[in-house]
Amino acid sequence: MNFKATLVNEFSQGPVDHELVFEGVATDTRKDCTNKLFVPIVGEVFDGHRFIDSAIENGATGTLWEKTKPFPKDLEGRIQVYKVEDTTVGLQELAKEVLKEQKPYVIGVTGSNGKTTVKDMLEAVLSSKYQTYKTQGNLNNHWGLPMTVLAMPEGTDVLILEMGMSSAGEISLLTSIANPDVAVITNIGESHLLQLGSRENIAKAKMEIAEGLKTDGLLVIDGDEPLLEPVHNNALTCGYGATNELQIDKVEKRENGYTFTLKNEDSPFEINLLGKHNIKNAIYSIAAARKLNVSESEIHKALSNLTLTGMRLEQDRLPSGALIINDAYNASPTSMKAAIETLVELEGFDQKIAVLGDMYELGNEEEALHRDIASAVKTPITEVITVGEKAKWIYDGLTEDKAQQVPAVSFISKDDAASYLEGKLDDRTAVLLKASRGLGLETIINALGN
Ligand code: ATP
Ligand code: MG
Repeated sequence: MNFKATLVNEFSQGPVDHELVFEGVATDTRKDCTNKLFVPIVGEVFDGHRFIDSAIENGATGTLWEKTKPFPKDLEGRIQVYKVEDTTVGLQELAKEVLKEQKPYVIGVTGSNGKTTVKDMLEAVLSSKYQTYKTQGNLNNHWGLPMTVLAMPEGTDVLILEMGMSSAGEISLLTSIANPDVAVITNIGESHLLQLGSRENIAKAKMEIAEGLKTDGLLVIDGDEPLLEPVHNNALTCGYGATNELQIDKVEKRENGYTFTLKNEDSPFEINLLGKHNIKNAIYSIAAARKLNVSESEIHKALSNLTLTGMRLEQDRLPSGALIINDAYNASPTSMKAAIETLVELEGFDQKIAVLGDMYELGNEEEALHRDIASAVKTPITEVITVGEKAKWIYDGLTEDKAQQVPAVSFISKDDAASYLEGKLDDRTAVLLKASRGLGLETIINALGN
């Protein structure tokens, strides 16, 4: 994204050059900085200001610079310097200025689970009509969100921003930068319970997204979650419950996904994804697409043809013929239960094995929350394999419950779990992988010869 240097003057002190245009921002001087504005970020370990000489060498033509730091005398005159209090705040201010100037339609997506999925779905349903740009990977924080804005290509009609958080006030900041036209809250789970203390506090923190929402904007929320309130004059509740304005009706399971209708509507939608939670994710994207006047036929077409970012219930066949459902991108109690439910519903397999690993960052409740996973496990799941120290609590929960019919084994190491699993695989077997990111449970797939 090219932007005029005069935009930088809106929040900094520096030379006003009406001709100068920057061809984007750079925070890493090991990469090409040609004609870019260097933004030296001050991190816990490194201070980007130290790399100003290499920014200049690599072609940067301007730099933000914190007022309290002396600018090296020998480099004076070699680069335009814009003084700011704080370079990270400067980056955020710049993103705001660029948004004001380019005026893309902005959709912000937050929630405990499903942000990346909804972001991908939104892109799918909107790109038939609009030029869209979305958060790459997981660049969804106070630094990643402005970087996403500044990476947006010229001519972007709709900018889809994932907004992540781990404590109160973070979404507030992100929504004040993004000033969205549509804000989506996908669900409330238990992720970041450690930092926030309660599900109520998590819900409040997610609802901060409405603070920056335009007055004529649309707030789309999970209406099945009692803790979420329609905190905007134009809010749409979505979900399975009868009080929802957009209510999911008549769900039918298909081999690779579902068909469903919306209450008081005839035409069934089809999604080629497993997991009932993905129907919900789909209706959030329907709500946004309708607000943006995408035709119903384009919405139908896009939803039946989705490809998501990897490791979200990603299906793969192993050399043994077994089906792997890789949902190991991350896990919280809500998303682990949703994944287990998906395995329960899966048809056409004699053996259905759930490989469940540690869930991190759950705070004081971590043991209880792991044990409680056992309540979601039921036949026709044929076996549970737990992996890791914390997941052992899931195993305890399963084996201490006399009524539980699904057998379980527990391993601390992934290698041991893989060796155990290997002997069980054939083309009548489906295996679910689910754990927090830190465990890297997907490496089991390599150990199984894929
Ligand atoms: P992160 O905070 O790690 O960026 P995210 O919010 O982007 O996560 P996704 O990556 O889309 O979430 O999905 C993560 C997992 O959450 C999925 O693999 C799925 O099991 C589960 N999930 C997705 N959508 C929902 C939902 N609406 N409700 C409950 N669980 C969900
Ligand atoms: Mg994500």
